[in-house]
Amino acid sequence: MYRSNTCGELRIENVGQKVTLAGWVQKVRKLGGMTFIDLRDRYGITQLVVDATAPAELIETASSLGREFVIQVVGTVVERQAKNAKMATGEVEITVECINVLNKSVTPPFTIEEESDGGEDIRAKYRYLDLRRPPLQRALALRHRLAQEIRSYLDQQGFMEIETPYLIKSTPEGARDFVVPSRMNPGQFYALPQSPQTFKQLLMVSGYDRYFQIVRCFRDEDLRADRQPEFTQIDCEMSFVEQEDVLNTFEGMMRQMFKNAIGVDIPNPLPRMSWYDAMDFYGSDKPDVRFGMKIHDITSLAQGHGFSVFDSVEYVGAIAAEGCAEYTRKELDALTEWVKRPQVGAKGLVYIKCNADGTFKSSVDKFYTPEEVKAMAEAVEAKAGDLVLILCGAKRKAQTMLGVLRIEMGNRLGYRDPKVFAPLWIVDFPLLEWDDETQRFYAMHHPFTAPKPEHEKWFYSDKKEDLERVCANAYDFVLNGTELGGGSIRIHNADMQQRMFEVLGISKEDAEYKFGFIINAFKFGAPPHGGLAFGFDRVCALFGGQETIRDYIAFPKNNQGRDVMIDSPSQIDQTQLDELMLDIRPLEQN
Ligand code: ASP
Repeated sequence: MYRSNTCGELRIENVGQKVTLAGWVQKVRKLGGMTFIDLRDRYGITQLVVDATAPAELIETASSLGREFVIQVVGTVVERQAKNAKMATGEVEITVECINVLNKSVTPPFTIEEESDGGEDIRAKYRYLDLRRPPLQRALALRHRLAQEIRSYLDQQGFMEIETPYLIKSTPEGARDFVVPSRMNPGQFYALPQSPQTFKQLLMVSGYDRYFQIVRCFRDEDLRADRQPEFTQIDCEMSFVEQEDVLNTFEGMMRQMFKNAIGVDIPNPLPRMSWYDAMDFYGSDKPDVRFGMKIHDITSLAQGHGFSVFDSVEYVGAIAAEGCAEYTRKELDALTEWVKRPQVGAKGLVYIKCNADGTFKSSVDKFYTPEEVKAMAEAVEAKAGDLVLILCGAKRKAQTMLGVLRIEMGNRLGYRDPKVFAPLWIVDFPLLEWDDETQRFYAMHHPFTAPKPEHEKWFYSDKKEDLERVCANAYDFVLNGTELGGGSIRIHNADMQQRMFEVLGISKEDAEYKFGFIINAFKFGAPPHGGLAFGFDRVCALFGGQETIRDYIAFPKNNQGRDVMIDSPSQIDQTQLDELMLDIRPLEQN
């Protein structure tokens, strides 16, 4: 037996026991002839002591130990003189009788402790060492716990875990596919799935009425902050259900995950908000409802007073930032520059200071009487001491900018505590989204989402305004300003699916070539069905109170999509290329 206990296990009750421990040497300290060793494994750290009176050979071995040596020790648990309340094992130490060096280590390139002194790149290169650090071990332990909760809940609810293929067919709609050349079919390519969407729907056609999978998905996107080219989804689908059934089932799953993994009770039932309200009041389809600061439409109050900036736009909206009336000229200028950054995109910022003495001071005082300024401030529910921030433009665009500004002010005001959880469902999404650039509709969720039955009449209309009005039984699960998952009730009828492709400007031939299999499957008795998928990496990160998903993935890629540890992607041999019948064009010189 290599060990009788882990390094996180021994307590005062164990005093007097003879134990065998194994682990990594975190630190060796000498103190007046005694040698102290911190021994670490993923369960914790235990202090080992080699007494000054120990045999010379043992003292010598103890002194020769370096950081990250792997050792096995036999010794007795004793009560510590100087207890350490910060450590779970801090009341005891082990008086060592024997040390067996199981393996040496070269000096690690950074400290392997709670906080490391290593930069991101070096830690990524030595990910296997970074993974020895407690914060990462806690992150992966949380991920494991959540995965177990998901499996146990869904199993109890009668879901079957079924795997779907990774080598599939390229159907670029949405993100770009990763493709894999086929040696056995020269000139042809597989694609890696962006999600198992069509397969899970086919499983419904096959009668597996409750399916789930914790599954890897692949999207070849430019990696905006905190995205990974391969990521994990909790993917689910159910037959003979309405939206209500899906929401109840997965709210239940989330409730169990919150309770059992992090001891948090979430409301029952969860709040729901329509997509339209989310946009109107929060300027985002993933509102952070941990705080108010709602957006108010003040168009009618702002227009018609000779201020041409407001008079020439569709919409004027505002938020009230609590206690910010004391912002200085300089701070207001900086905030104005901030909203003008391309990430926000505003042309300028108008403000009203609601002074503590009940007076108002705005940046557009010359166009409005004090009463008119007051009316605008009141419309935004601003109190004395608040700062009203006003943006304008096309309605949805201006609301989105106000949404970004609201989050910024929420951050500044400390309203976004990662330990506070405010989950909700966003429902009633529009089915389609018009894109001015390409002059076509795109599916807001994906092309398999069904229109609401009561909106079908508009779905079959050729008028753009009608199509824009069609809503879907589509839903997103949103937590603290992040979309953690989403899904919809699906189309299960071949003709309606054809119509959807037609609306999306996909020709009959193209639809047949790319999606013929699913249109055909729907002709063989497809049941009504719906489902959703959660982004598992992000679920883990938010449950862990973190914003970045990288710590919750054992071997993630960097922002360039590279795994710097194994140095991938990389070139392949000419023989491999020949087998695949591929030629690499020389990179163009610029
Ligand atoms: N497959 C969808 C996605 O990846 C989720 C769903 O509709 O179930 O977003």
